[in-house]
Amino acid sequence: MVVNNNLLEIYKKYREGRLAHAYLIETNNISKCMKDLKELVKALNCPSEFNENCNNCNLCNLIEKNNLPSLITIEPDGTSIKKSQIEDLKISFETKPIYSKYNIYIIKNAEKLNASSANAMLKFVEEPTDGILGFFITTNKDVMIPTIKSRCQSLVIDYESNNLLEKLNISKEEFDDYVIDIRNYLNQIFVNDIINHKMQILTKYSERKQIEIMFKLIFEIYYNHFLKISKKNYAKELTDIINIKDNEKEIIRKLNIITKFLQDLSYNVNIELLLDKFVIEMRKNDG
Ligand SMILES: [Zn+2]
Repeated sequence: MVVNNNLLEIYKKYREGRLAHAYLIETNNISKCMKDLKELVKALNCPSEFNENCNNCNLCNLIEKNNLPSLITIEPDGTSIKKSQIEDLKISFETKPIYSKYNIYIIKNAEKLNASSANAMLKFVEEPTDGILGFFITTNKDVMIPTIKSRCQSLVIDYESNNLLEKLNISKEEFDDYVIDIRNYLNQIFVNDIINHKMQILTKYSERKQIEIMFKLIFEIYYNHFLKISKKNYAKELTDIINIKDNEKEIIRKLNIITKFLQDLSYNVNIELLLDKFVIEMRKNDG
């Protein structure tokens, strides 16, 4: 299937002749969504029966290369989408498309429409013109201007993430910061006094959510060491964080302890108690 499942709904509506004039798509991955949207735009316009990778026909080819004049993508110019960008769009869409069925605009990062550009945009969504189709793409529709939001058909497209930073919702800087603390922590729990490093962590990470991220990262580190000794694909940048000499059995034992910790953490168990328990468990087989 070439049209993404969520976008397939739109395609079906098109086949039934019931397309809305504007769609608001909230997604956790704008670039993937843009790619999928491009396939949808092809499917909507392709003069032959659209099939997988129809870049053969002239129209699909133009869409693929971003060269179709009746398909206009607007993205933020600096920190916002400017009114002049919308004015240009209006002028372009005054004429009916020559090659394709629709004039299509895509507003990427639509939450970046400022008050005046959103106002200029209203014409399109308030007095829809036949043959003009719009897509507003955003990561957070809650921050979008309500007048636009209320006039669009809304849908949500969530993509699974393979990227650890995306999965944990942290920046590279935050990740690096966690790594330093994790390295210290894992090095210390096997030698030093329990209370010290417990306090060290609790002082720095006062929120449960932060402790959760830290231990999810610890899990990933151990898990990648496990993949490494199992001769499977592993992330070297994670195994390089700390040298773990445990054998497979011991790593599995520790992965179970970390998993249990994360479970207990989600049940609102007292964090100090959990951290004490964690250290005791982790040390058990050590020496
Ligand atoms: Zn085609």
